[in-house]
Amino acid sequence: MTLSTLYHANLYEKPAVPSYWEATAPPPPADNGPLSGEQSCEVAVIGGGYCGLSAAYHLAKDHGRDVRVLEANHLGWGASGRNGGFVCFPAGKLGLEAMVAKYGQEATQAYLQSQLDAVDLVDALGREEGIDYDRQGHGFYDVAHRPEAAAGLPAYAEGLKRFGVPTRLMSKAEFDAEGHRGSEQFGAVHIQRGFGLHPLKFHRGLAAAALKRGAIVHGNSLVERWETTGGAHRLVTAGGSLKAKQVIIATNGYIREGLQPALDGRVLPALSNIVTTRPLTAAELAAENFVNESPLFNTRRLLFYYRILKDKRLLFGARGDTDGSPASAARMRAWLTRRLGEVFPAFAGAETTHFWRGLVTLAATKMPAVGRLPDDRSVFFAYGCHGNGVNTMPWAGQALAKLAAGANRDEDVVPAPILGLSPRFPFPALRRFYLKAAYLYYGLKDR
Ligand SMILES: Cc1cc2nc3c(=O)[nH]c(=O)nc-3n(C[C@H](O)[C@H](O)[C@H](O)COP(=O)(O)OP(=O)(O)OC[C@H]3O[C@@H](n4cnc5c(N)ncnc54)[C@H](O)[C@@H]3O)c2cc1C
Repeated sequence: MTLSTLYHANLYEKPAVPSYWEATAPPPPADNGPLSGEQSCEVAVIGGGYCGLSAAYHLAKDHGRDVRVLEANHLGWGASGRNGGFVCFPAGKLGLEAMVAKYGQEATQAYLQSQLDAVDLVDALGREEGIDYDRQGHGFYDVAHRPEAAAGLPAYAEGLKRFGVPTRLMSKAEFDAEGHRGSEQFGAVHIQRGFGLHPLKFHRGLAAAALKRGAIVHGNSLVERWETTGGAHRLVTAGGSLKAKQVIIATNGYIREGLQPALDGRVLPALSNIVTTRPLTAAELAAENFVNESPLFNTRRLLFYYRILKDKRLLFGARGDTDGSPASAARMRAWLTRRLGEVFPAFAGAETTHFWRGLVTLAATKMPAVGRLPDDRSVFFAYGCHGNGVNTMPWAGQALAKLAAGANRDEDVVPAPILGLSPRFPFPALRRFYLKAAYLYYGLKDR
């Protein structure tokens, strides 16, 4: 079957990522090179982002499994090497009340606990594997972008608190002093878990740790075909093939449809775009009183996410564009540059030195999906972090390693709100149009 992708080919084929992270990270660890010849292993992982590498790391280290990762591009090419570096949560878009109504109090609590565990896992990986990922800040902030949005903050803060997440409500004046000024700042909630990091340094460290623990990692090995006969899997790349008893699909937004039909139509990749400025001067930062290094995002439905990096650049990002072509990238860069100057007038003239973008994923349940295929219990998957995968995906990889190792029942590892496949989107061919319509609607609501 032919493989297909949802967006412009440029998003899948362009090997170099012009990100600030690529410009400032050490080179990737030496991997095992592209797959060649007829190989076999116990567990094959497709995709070498946080999810795939964490699965491989935990399978090798905690469960002594013979595991190989097949990554289409160079290590760190996917979203894991190019995100905003926000270690924040929750990873779904279903509100807490809706989650309680659908799954119950206990399951919602288990889900939020798994999100806190996911933050701790990033912390623990850094500590135990000696990964220096430029940790910054304490917790993260949700900033009201207009006065009416501030009215919703107390309920949001209380809701999280009820599930054991420490939060602090801040008035505009309090946040002026501790966060930043700016034209879209009317109070905030400080969620006091999480931090900022250099995503590619984290990825490099995780890759090195997986290799050190015995996982075999093949970069530049796109899986083009998947054959299953008599319960055994064979993954075929341009240079070789890999037989495995179990397969973990960790391709998230970069999924190729047609490779594993059970997943077709269930994933909605969406573009997230980032610019970084040149280092801002002390006077510019003082003019906005930008004194906080924690990650921040605002209450817009099409939210802005931003943070000050170690060398005092502003990273500023947003979702948008349903095309993915080079021309639309240029338009998106110009738009982000203009909007960052409107939100922070003192930074308006600052040159933007880097622009890049990549694919996050949405699922029909508005929640991540983690588990195994109902019709083939030897195939596992994780997708749908809704742009919050820096902590969720290492956690999901660890969870899939536990499922594949067979030590636990699936429902003991993965909380009910995110366990199992999400339904297919109706008329999957229309997915980009749904997104376009949603962007138009949210754009109007956000005015
Ligand atoms: C611009 C941007 C900003 C973001 N900001 C944040 C943030 O600040 N905080 C946060 O929590 N999350 C953020 N995210 C989301 C987060 O980066 C992702 O959720 C997470 O990295 C997904 O990890 P993953 O391992 O599942 O997938 P990825 O890192 O995308 O890895 C999937 C890999 O699979 C490979 N692949 C696909 N098909 C095949 C195949 N057939 N054969 C072999 N390999 C294949 C791809 O090449 C890719 O490298 C952001 C994402 C983007 C794009």
